[in-house]
Amino acid sequence: MKKVLLFGATGSIGQQTLDIISRFRDSLTLLGISGKLRLDNLLDIAEKFRPPLIALPDEESVSYLAKRLSYKPEFFVGDEGLARMASEPSADVVVIAISGIKGLIPAYYALKNGKRVALANKESIIGGGFLLLSTAQSSGGEIIPVDSEHSALFQLLQKVKSYSLRKVYLTASGGPFLDWDLKDLEKVTPELALKHPTWRMGEKITVDSATLMNKGFEVIEASVLFNLPPEKIEVLIHPQSTIHALVELIDGTFFAHLSKPDMRLPILYALFYPERPNFDVADLSFSPSLTLNLFPPDFQKFPCLTLAYSALKLGHPYPLILEASDEVAVPAFLEGRIKFTDIPRVLEKTLNEFTIKYKPSTVDEILVFHEEVKNFTEEMIKRL
Ligand code: NDP
Ligand code: MG
Repeated sequence: MKKVLLFGATGSIGQQTLDIISRFRDSLTLLGISGKLRLDNLLDIAEKFRPPLIALPDEESVSYLAKRLSYKPEFFVGDEGLARMASEPSADVVVIAISGIKGLIPAYYALKNGKRVALANKESIIGGGFLLLSTAQSSGGEIIPVDSEHSALFQLLQKVKSYSLRKVYLTASGGPFLDWDLKDLEKVTPELALKHPTWRMGEKITVDSATLMNKGFEVIEASVLFNLPPEKIEVLIHPQSTIHALVELIDGTFFAHLSKPDMRLPILYALFYPERPNFDVADLSFSPSLTLNLFPPDFQKFPCLTLAYSALKLGHPYPLILEASDEVAVPAFLEGRIKFTDIPRVLEKTLNEFTIKYKPSTVDEILVFHEEVKNFTEEMIKRL
């Protein structure tokens, strides 16, 4: 029986992880959960799965839950609680489904303790991937990516010798504005941006998919996770979201990874790796027919992609700056304070104008630096 710690149980990835755990009750059991604001959801999850460990942001949330629960779990509080629960010795797999840079805390401590980390949280890889990888290497921990494209690449690259690899390709649905004219993007409203054509996800990542910032982040993620230079990573628009990644070999051969767009598949893979359990609830259908389109993205229409490559080439801490700035720009757009087309403008301005006084190298330094960039971006937006 594998014991699973699930950070971010109340979110989109969290819920889908719980679905997998429910379906595989003979092999998986929930050891611990965390949540932040959706306490009633967390309460329901706790009652259903009865995990012995629960991490919460503050004492108030602890007493809210403690009063209503029918059993007595052990509570972990605040950032320190995230670190402590992630260090729990009896855990076999630690799923990091928290959104935002805070995901770095449990990811780092789980790896430091030599655990397998099923990593959905991309902010931690973008801002602190170097730290996570070196920690995993020295402790014997391992990162299994959950982001669908990276799960696909992880699977494909196992079959390829690194010297025979020419390039990797990440696919992007293109988002809801793929066919819009550049000049019309000014008029995009939050309602329109929140309608993703193929995936159901949290709000932040849905907007990032519409600007293609998400794909830009994924280029950075792929570079860090698989140690690839920017010129070996390309993006292809693929509206059907059926091919998740491709690898091109030096003789011109391509391998592709296909599946239905369903995040439960990469979650399942990360939980069971290297095994593959029988799972037939997300099968791909060829009836009536399966059409696959693949074409290069329009960098002019989606400048966030260019920004990601620039940040990647500049190296640490530029990807962290880009990500932190986006964590401010996206809510500002959703609250109607800036236009959709201002998002890349704000990000570019932050990349160019934020003064780097030091290179953050520890978890605490990365979190503080991230906060400094967010404050800088917030001030800049006020002046726009
Ligand atoms: P959601 O917004 O749906 O969920 C986020 C989860 O994190 C919630 O459980 C939330 O708690 C918790 N959380 C948020 N902020 C904090 C914090 N500061 N401290 C502790 N917990 C916090 O996000 P998603 O599930 O969509 O995404 C999660 C991560 O996975 C992101 O990094 C995203 O980029 C990545 N990802 C998601 C994909 C998807 O399909 N959804 C695909 C690939 C990657 P609460 O709700 O209780 O406040
Ligand atoms: Mg993805």
